[in-house]
Amino acid sequence: MAATFDKTKSNFPLAGIARDGWSTEDEATATCFCGAVQLSFPTQGEGLVDTFICNCADCRKITASMFVSNFTIADTHLKHVRGQDNLKVFKQTYTVGGGNTSRTMANHFCSTCGTLMYRVGSAFPGMSILRIGTVDDFHLHESKLFPQYEQFTKSRVSWLHGVEGVKQVEGSYGT
Ligand SMILES: [Zn+2]
Ligand SMILES: [Zn+2]
Repeated sequence: MAATFDKTKSNFPLAGIARDGWSTEDEATATCFCGAVQLSFPTQGEGLVDTFICNCADCRKITASMFVSNFTIADTHLKHVRGQDNLKVFKQTYTVGGGNTSRTMANHFCSTCGTLMYRVGSAFPGMSILRIGTVDDFHLHESKLFPQYEQFTKSRVSWLHGVEGVKQVEGSYGT
């Protein structure tokens, strides 16, 4: 069967090795590229804290790309379906927002394939910052997980022009 890319409904394209991602009315999975690590999370309600784009210098470096597309999940609502012990943690001093060295940001990535699954920051207690691109149902990337705002627009690369119709903030949106 030919692969289709219908953006109007649930869509699980051939991406990575795992073929068991799923989504329901209010929950979905995020899986690393090799399939060893799978998370599930709420796609609506209080467990979904926010969704956003960040163009800061850290996010460029950590994604090896030009910006990151994130969504934040309350830890009370985040489930590790499998592979939690396959996650490796790299902790760093938080370098964004003035270089406050008392802040840390911990990256949790698959130790097999290197996919960054989420970040945990000391400035954001009780929540984990996941990556929209790891969500298995690609339809969610442009529906329930559509970015609510874009931050650090002042450091956005000049050949990109941002997300149309969402709040743009020059620096940090929250703290
Ligand atoms: Zn992996
Ligand atoms: Zn950032």
